[in-house]
Amino acid sequence: MARLIFITGGVVSSLGKGLASAALGALLQARGYKVRLRKLDPYLNVDPGTMSPFQHGEVYVTDDGAETDLDLGHYERFTGVSARKSDNVTSGRIYSQVIEKERKGGYLGRTVQVIPHVTDMIKEFVLADIDGLDFLLVEIGGTVGDIEGLPFFEAIRQLHNDLGRGQTAFIHLTLVPYIEAAGELKTKPTQHSVKELRAIGIQPDILLCRTSHPLPDDDRRKIGLFCNLPAERVIPAMDLDTIYRVPEAYHAVGLDTELLRVFGIDNAPPPDLSRWKAVVNKVKNPEGEVRIAVVGKYMQVKDSYKSLSEALTHGGIANNVKVHLDWIDSEVFERDDAASFLEEVDGILVPGGFGERGTEGKIGAVKFARERKVPFFGICYGLHMAVIEAARDLAGLDGAGTTEIGHPRHPVIGLMTEWVKGNQVESRAANGDMGGTMRLGAYPANLTPGSKVAEVYGALEISERHRHRYEVNTNYAKDLAKHGMEVSGWSPDGRLPEIMEIPDHPWFIGVQFHPELKSRPLEPHPLFTSFIAAAVQKSRLV
Ligand code: GLN
Repeated sequence: MARLIFITGGVVSSLGKGLASAALGALLQARGYKVRLRKLDPYLNVDPGTMSPFQHGEVYVTDDGAETDLDLGHYERFTGVSARKSDNVTSGRIYSQVIEKERKGGYLGRTVQVIPHVTDMIKEFVLADIDGLDFLLVEIGGTVGDIEGLPFFEAIRQLHNDLGRGQTAFIHLTLVPYIEAAGELKTKPTQHSVKELRAIGIQPDILLCRTSHPLPDDDRRKIGLFCNLPAERVIPAMDLDTIYRVPEAYHAVGLDTELLRVFGIDNAPPPDLSRWKAVVNKVKNPEGEVRIAVVGKYMQVKDSYKSLSEALTHGGIANNVKVHLDWIDSEVFERDDAASFLEEVDGILVPGGFGERGTEGKIGAVKFARERKVPFFGICYGLHMAVIEAARDLAGLDGAGTTEIGHPRHPVIGLMTEWVKGNQVESRAANGDMGGTMRLGAYPANLTPGSKVAEVYGALEISERHRHRYEVNTNYAKDLAKHGMEVSGWSPDGRLPEIMEIPDHPWFIGVQFHPELKSRPLEPHPLFTSFIAAAVQKSRLV
């Protein structure tokens, strides 16, 4: 059976627990182990799909159509293992399943309680679907001591007992802050955090201590003494210049070696980290730089576009260049001239989004890119904006728009109420529930032979992940094609346009799906590789 590694956090949030878990997964993988990562989120939303990106960052969509926490994006990018619906659960989902079971009479006769019924449901979730794995890494969201996290901590405590010796390990991520005025690192917050953990019955096997300064051996011994573990299992995790260095850096300080010892494994083969080293090398030694403007709405919170900024970096890795991102709130184009912001950039990307605010500014950015022949990449809402711009300015359809905002005279983007997935017809209603009602997850598309995208992918059949309600209205496709914008990717039934492009432009592609979700540092996505290549071309022309 798979061995379980639980990763908890303490002291403060935002220590990069997701990234640490993902990098540890990659490190175990580099030793030849089969791994999967999972996240338990203590909040009460059933999934993060209904949360604002301002609140919670990006919603990461899996192939099987789940809207999940953005940490699953880190997991996929570091391990290359596609996440599934069964890899992320929230308190909201656990409680709704318990209550559903109670209503159906599943607990007949008994009082339904957090322990054992909620904790059993959590344990069932953790242990489901893990056949064939060597290690399952389970990250618990939030920090120890949060009220809402308690059932999860209790469940993993029980699992440690249920599964017996050598089957589980607890890693606790803490902060060892450096106090400038005293010129000292402070271990007290870590001691308190572990005290909290032990009070609920969990003794960490390894402490991973985030620090901005090297952690002296004396401090490691002191932490070990107070927290009841050997000094070599108090592992410093220094801040690094690039996230791709994390697997290598963790190995250098012995994280994987100590972790394997917790499981009684002393003779594991050393990890092959050559691919990660190659990525770090490329990131640290670029041959040039391109500037890409990302014109969107959730610009203050970079985590809202986590996968996107990662995918753009991957495109840079593939082209040996550094990608400098200008995050521009599209609303500024509604006040000032777009040109003054976009004059210097080598590529323009309009990402996904929802709602009316900032749309005219995004359309302005598309117009600039189209007219000035700047490489343009539109993703989901970005595609919608590109179609609206082309309809208005190329095809002369005044009042072209999307039915997502009002009732435009020419609804070039509209709500599809029915579509086909596999052999099934799926449907959505305009006034239905908001949660989980989008076209979600992986759908295949057929590419037009001879099109730009067919060249970019080097294939005619692709599969990409979706998260949207509205689609390009095919009634306008002919008119748009006559004026230079063509559909170059279709759903297999030929009903939904998946990709639009302007052939008479150096690089102008809009896609209905989210290719950024599938890009990985070791395997950059072809669309991002090609977009950055076009930006490199452009930068050399000026
Ligand atoms: N708001 C658009 C829709 O729902 C686009 C969504 C997105 O960009 N992810 O169709």
